[in-house]
Amino acid sequence: MVDLIPDLNNISLENWDHPVFREHELHADILRLDKIHPEISGNKWFKLKYYLRKAKEENKHTLISFGGAYSNHILALAAAAAMNGFASMGLIRGEESRPLSHTMASAKEFGMKLQFLSRPEYNDRKNSEAKNNPDLFTPDTLLIPEGGAGDEGIRGAEDILSVIPFTGYSHICCAVGTGATLAGLINRSERNQKIIGVSVLKGTRDLNPLDPSWINNKSKLDHVSIIHQDHFGGYAKYNQLLLDFMNDIFTKSGIPTDFVYTGKLFYSIVRMAGDNFFPVRGKILILHTGGIQGNRSLPPGLLQF
Ligand SMILES: *Cc1c(COP(=O)(O)O)cnc(C)c1O
Repeated sequence: MVDLIPDLNNISLENWDHPVFREHELHADILRLDKIHPEISGNKWFKLKYYLRKAKEENKHTLISFGGAYSNHILALAAAAAMNGFASMGLIRGEESRPLSHTMASAKEFGMKLQFLSRPEYNDRKNSEAKNNPDLFTPDTLLIPEGGAGDEGIRGAEDILSVIPFTGYSHICCAVGTGATLAGLINRSERNQKIIGVSVLKGTRDLNPLDPSWINNKSKLDHVSIIHQDHFGGYAKYNQLLLDFMNDIFTKSGIPTDFVYTGKLFYSIVRMAGDNFFPVRGKILILHTGGIQGNRSLPPGLLQF
């Protein structure tokens, strides 16, 4: 086994003492994956680790992946590559903005080469096999799918549940972007557990954006729900209600959340608990998947942390 940086010593499991859980006789714990590292936070580390390991084992030099201008995945890749001795390149959806987003500027500081692509060109590149990208795919490079959503990424996400004893929880919840993290949770979960994803995208329905081919045992899909009503207008959209909620959670519990993913997840769980979604005496495990650095792209002063 190759040792990778950072290690996982900072992760903690914390009880979330919110009045709605007391009222409805629920117990909620938060798995603080956000504490792994300020830039390689949360689920991104898990989705990347088998790609990094593979790159080390195959003596690759450069790691390449895809993402938008606010992609936590791209920044996590830039940082993890730098810390583990790889060069990195980010293929970024859309024209280059000036100034760069904080996320892109930080990725660049970690030495990542950024290439901005028009949307059609980006989609072309993203969806074509490595062999169709001969200028990028040399024997020296490893291509990682957008969001780390490939076999290695899902296998990495399965390992999230190896960090703590998880079989005692009735519900396991996380925010959903590509759905790769959710897929990992589903694959590792026990049959009697419900897996709840909160979509942060507008226009998803049923089990979208989860790709059923990621799930080892299709019968487990019966235990999965994706919530589509708490996206606050879509990806990276927010309003005062969400900001007030995030400030309230931080003030009362000391837990920072991000406005793209975990703020919406936490909001959704509190709303659902109030709506009796969870059966009495339910034990809920909530993944804090990180992403806090993304709050730097908000205008200053909106958040109290
Ligand atoms: C990327 C991300 C997610 C979504 O993960 P997927 O595996 O793409 O569904 C959730 N939370 C945070 C903080 C993220 O950065």
